[in-house]
Amino acid sequence: MTLATSIMKTSEGLFQCLKCGYQSKKRDHVVRHNGRIHETLPKIKCPICGKVTLNEYSLAEHTRIAHKLKLSDLKKAASAATESAQPAAKKIKKK
Ligand SMILES: [Zn+2]
Ligand SMILES: [Zn+2]
Repeated sequence: MTLATSIMKTSEGLFQCLKCGYQSKKRDHVVRHNGRIHETLPKIKCPICGKVTLNEYSLAEHTRIAHKLKLSDLKKAASAATESAQPAAKKIKKK
């Protein structure tokens, strides 16, 4: 998908972001808006299979269906893996 497909020129001669309705007289502004608002969304990776999900909810849904795991179980597994991968000096304090 290219940025151009998410920008539309309105009948008033404005450029509009099709994702959220943001409008500007300058196409440039909408391109930049797109990059900043819609292309930089944090994506969450499944620590088990590496599948990229858009948010924690879809990750929870994915792990529940694909791995039969709750997100809380997954987080425990993920943090345990991160801890063991890090040098001892950087160990995170547990509450
Ligand atoms: Zn937008
Ligand atoms: Zn997965």
